[in-house]
Amino acid sequence: MSLPAKSLASIYAPDRSGLSFELFPPKTAEGDAALLEHVQQLMAFQPDYFTCTYGAGGSTREKTLSIIRAVKQKFGTPVASHLTCVGSTVDQLRDYLREADRAEVDYIVALRGDPPRGEENFRPVPGGLRYANELVGLIREEFPGLGIAVAGYPETHREAPSPQADLENLKRKVDAGGQVILTQLFYQNEDFFRFRDACVRMGIHVPIVPGILPVTNLAQIQRIASLCGAKLPASFVSELSRREDPDWHFQVGIEFATNQVRELLAAGVPGLHFYVLNKSQATAAVLQAVRS
Ligand code: FAD
Repeated sequence: MSLPAKSLASIYAPDRSGLSFELFPPKTAEGDAALLEHVQQLMAFQPDYFTCTYGAGGSTREKTLSIIRAVKQKFGTPVASHLTCVGSTVDQLRDYLREADRAEVDYIVALRGDPPRGEENFRPVPGGLRYANELVGLIREEFPGLGIAVAGYPETHREAPSPQADLENLKRKVDAGGQVILTQLFYQNEDFFRFRDACVRMGIHVPIVPGILPVTNLAQIQRIASLCGAKLPASFVSELSRREDPDWHFQVGIEFATNQVRELLAAGVPGLHFYVLNKSQATAAVLQAVRS
């Protein structure tokens, strides 16, 4: 039986800035080895925790746990497993949470997940959960030792009928036990600031941590941004498009992300969550620039 949760929120105390890095499970053994090298590089920035995503329909169940177990064992840093409701009954979710608890996972990023590829709408499996707030409630009640983060959407979740409805959902997730909000990636800080103000007006008072994905490859980021609905500023895209050169894209992307992060920190965000895409260079370049 797990002990009461080390509050994830305490990482984001007023006198310090929290730092987390999000990984995804590699598909090959070479990918695993390379990932641990990148994690080693990122350890230089003294992150508070690493997270690892959970593949569509539970396709990475074992892999997600094995990656975060390896990161924790090798580097001793706290770890979070993402977990979605897609394709799992409540009993299967419980099994995963039991396993995560046994593996000394510290936190869960509790999500509903996207509909499986080719399906328009999310449909729970019989005996499954419909929304992330139900998963948060399950964890809070049955696994009190696990800290809980939930997802927030500065540009509104694409299925939500309105920003207000999306915020009401977010409030439900926080009221159910979500201790911290990690946001979807975004490139226009004004979207984040508007979202943060709206959360406060809704009575949401947990740390809201911006999700940052430095652009290093225009085509890749356009694909990711269109999948999650994030807008890329036209001036930024046009600057990147001026040349085909990958080094140019890296340099322009890092400069943009550095300015974005500087402005967020100056505006008092409680921390940063980097989507590192299993590579350390871009995130390291941004953090070095910001901290210099
Ligand atoms: P929910 O909070 O349940 O919301 C889903 C939609 O339903 C929203 O539009 C919401 O407004 C609406 N809604 C919620 N409750 C109700 C209600 N009671 N009535 C009506 N409408 C409601 N995906 C993965 O597959 N694996 C991952 O590892 C992963 N990690 C992520 C990490 C972060 C930080 C973020 C921001 C996203 C991540 N995602 C991941 C993507 C996420 O699974 C999708 O965005 C998914 O579509 C929504 O998940 P959610 O937890 O936000 O869902």
